[in-house]
Amino acid sequence: MQIETKYDIGDEVYGIFLDREFASVPVECDTCDSTGKVELKENKFTCPDCQGKSTQKVARKEWKILTWERRIYKIEVRKDGAEFQIYYLLTNGYLMCVSNLFKTKKEARAACKIRNAQIAKETNDG
Ligand SMILES: [Zn+2]
Repeated sequence: MQIETKYDIGDEVYGIFLDREFASVPVECDTCDSTGKVELKENKFTCPDCQGKSTQKVARKEWKILTWERRIYKIEVRKDGAEFQIYYLLTNGYLMCVSNLFKTKKEARAACKIRNAQIAKETNDG
């Protein structure tokens, strides 16, 4: 069996990963103009639409470059159906597939940019 690998053991690579974090963002509420309060006959009430919350937690996803040590320590071949998948185990313990590894920081950064633009597009569409 002959398997071509893009990288060799010991190669320095730039891995990217999808980082998820929760951020507080202002609630967009048309009923109260995002103030959390509605006025009715000079009395102020908690907005029934947003329950008076001025912020909400949203999950943010962002592709980032791994900043830790990044040499290939081990190469693993796994059979996925009829296809072979090659995984690279990095010295930091991360198991990466080839689509998330790049030879230069520039390439890694460019890939992050493209994927983050895709996430932004999906977020705006949906
Ligand atoms: Zn509201």
